[in-house]
Amino acid sequence: MTTIERHEYDVLVVGAGGAGLRAAIEARERGLRTGIVCKSLFGKAHTVMAEGGCAAAMGNVAEKDSWQVHFRDTMRGGKFLNSWRMAELHAKEAPDRVWELEAWGALFDRTPDGRISQRNFGGHTYPRLAHVGDRTGLELIRTLQQRVVALQRADYFATGDYESRLRVFAECTVTELLTDDDGAIAGAFGYWRETGRFVEFSAPAVVLATGGIGKSFKVTSNSWEYTGDGHALALRAGAGLVDMEFVQFHPTGMVWPPSVKGILVTEGVRGDGGVLRNSDGDRFMFRYVPDVFKGQYAQTEDEADRWYTDQDNNRRTPDLLPRDEVARAINTEVKEGRGSPHGGVFLDIASRMPAEEIKRRLPSMYHQFKELADVDITAEPMEVGPTCHYVMGGIDVDPDTGQSSVPGLFAAGECAGGMHGSNRLGGNSLSDLLVFGRRAGLGAADYVTGLARRPSRRDRDVEAAARTALAPFDPPSRGARAENPYTLHAELQGVMNDLVGIIRTEDEMTEALERLGELRARLRHVVVEGHRQYNPGWHLALDLRNMLMVSEAVASSALMRTESRGGHTRDDHPMLDPEWRHRVLVTRCVPGEAADGLAVPRVEVEVAERAPMREDLLALFDLTELEKYYTPAELTAHPEGGA
Ligand code: FAD
Repeated sequence: MTTIERHEYDVLVVGAGGAGLRAAIEARERGLRTGIVCKSLFGKAHTVMAEGGCAAAMGNVAEKDSWQVHFRDTMRGGKFLNSWRMAELHAKEAPDRVWELEAWGALFDRTPDGRISQRNFGGHTYPRLAHVGDRTGLELIRTLQQRVVALQRADYFATGDYESRLRVFAECTVTELLTDDDGAIAGAFGYWRETGRFVEFSAPAVVLATGGIGKSFKVTSNSWEYTGDGHALALRAGAGLVDMEFVQFHPTGMVWPPSVKGILVTEGVRGDGGVLRNSDGDRFMFRYVPDVFKGQYAQTEDEADRWYTDQDNNRRTPDLLPRDEVARAINTEVKEGRGSPHGGVFLDIASRMPAEEIKRRLPSMYHQFKELADVDITAEPMEVGPTCHYVMGGIDVDPDTGQSSVPGLFAAGECAGGMHGSNRLGGNSLSDLLVFGRRAGLGAADYVTGLARRPSRRDRDVEAAARTALAPFDPPSRGARAENPYTLHAELQGVMNDLVGIIRTEDEMTEALERLGELRARLRHVVVEGHRQYNPGWHLALDLRNMLMVSEAVASSALMRTESRGGHTRDDHPMLDPEWRHRVLVTRCVPGEAADGLAVPRVEVEVAERAPMREDLLALFDLTELEKYYTPAELTAHPEGGA
């Protein structure tokens, strides 16, 4: 048995993006010894990449904004499949979380009278996104890190040790969760990326905040960390995942040159006045307003343009429909031959505002296009197309505490599910991770405080985790061909992109599941060269196990949901089906599945019922709007619904 470094905490947070840091701050502030583990450098998480802003109904720019309007927008964006309790908590608490960041030192852009400025984004009725140019995530992470450092400094004065109550383990990957005989969380197992040495954390509560799954798709805005680790860790520990069929394809990723295909072009470009055009110069989005949004969006270019300066008397531009609608529209334009030279459409901000204004409002976009594509966005349009961006599906948690069905296992941020239903509105992730990061930290702290005894992990689980981690160094079994992790990864990305992508059919997804089964079998024979010291091929081999589990969850759920809703579009079932509105799909590990070595435990998907929305929340909507989504039986609770 190899040597294992050991640490003991009350709460272990896996992930140091916005959700993880906010959870850790809360747990530490409640007096618990808290460890934070992140597989990338401290500060390098998706949160830092967030551009457009953080949605919160503060009413600074539009006084009429309120939590009720934000709640309505979020539910509409998610096509009413959202966990309504999460959407309610999120809309009510997001402003406090933004003000709290300001109190901790964040410097948001200001309105002329000095309040936090808020910008327009798709699906939001009012300008609602608190932002710092197009680098909002950077400020958010900087502020949370500063808060971590401030707490460590306070601990130094109290104990003489900066890390006595809050410590960050950076470039350390968690590969397995550890449980006791009753299935309660007892800790986690992982390795240091630099040395390859193993590390074990003993902790009665673990908060997963590992982000998304985008690296399973070929074209994505996500970076290397997004391999669905938290999703897979939770599955293997016995928790369920919800809504895994809902993957968001952001409408505007770069399409050219190939080396940067998928990199995000913020929705802030359209929020600030940019418009989409096809190769005929036509502002095509006016032709794509779906029935459920009819009456809410401008019908002419003049009205849409007036809306940017007078939102009380005009309707919003359809360029800012929710992301799923815009992504599908672009897909159709390209398929019907009206795309740009490199297979996207045009996004034009150059003709809409002076060059200096563009550089001031969108500095990162200006540099991104100049440096990566040699395009000057102040003089010519960008070429953009859909890119895999965000997963709405995630760990099934209690809305108020963030606890999963596994005692001691909590989740927050992108790896948790339910909040966004079938489609997330832009800006609602940064607010989600602040609201639910705090709640998960609080939930974990309360859980640990209430425990009568500390769960103990089983020796055999630690040994199995070490064996699994080392399996890629073993030669393949006799007669089997050695597999390369990079080849398997490229094939997985191709399968997910081509067969479980933006438009889906039963035949393609059935084929995808067969191909995933083959990849699962081949992963057992994966072999990596070299040693355990910084070895990216080895790291990828271990990540692949997670990516395959999560990809199977996505494909199986997508096959089962025979309707189109939000981020799930079925060519063979193109309509919303009210009967599916109250059904969510829950993925779990098949009980008793072998998980030794690199075996990928199979998953199964079952239908569960979403609890009916509370009456006072239902009453926030007009009955006529709800009738587009709900069954008559569900609407009897509406004040106008009657019997
Ligand atoms: P992350 O910030 O990604 O953090 C995940 C953490 O988990 C990282 O520290 C990672 O190292 C760690 N981790 C993962 N696996 C392991 C493991 N096995 N062991 C240890 N650590 C692990 N949303 C908005 O609301 N507004 C925006 O303007 C916006 N812009 C975006 C722009 C881009 C380019 C992208 C990619 C996303 C954007 N989003 C935006 C979405 C948003 O940034 C993410 O959804 C959000 O930041 C996720 O936060 P998180 O804390 O859940 O995860």
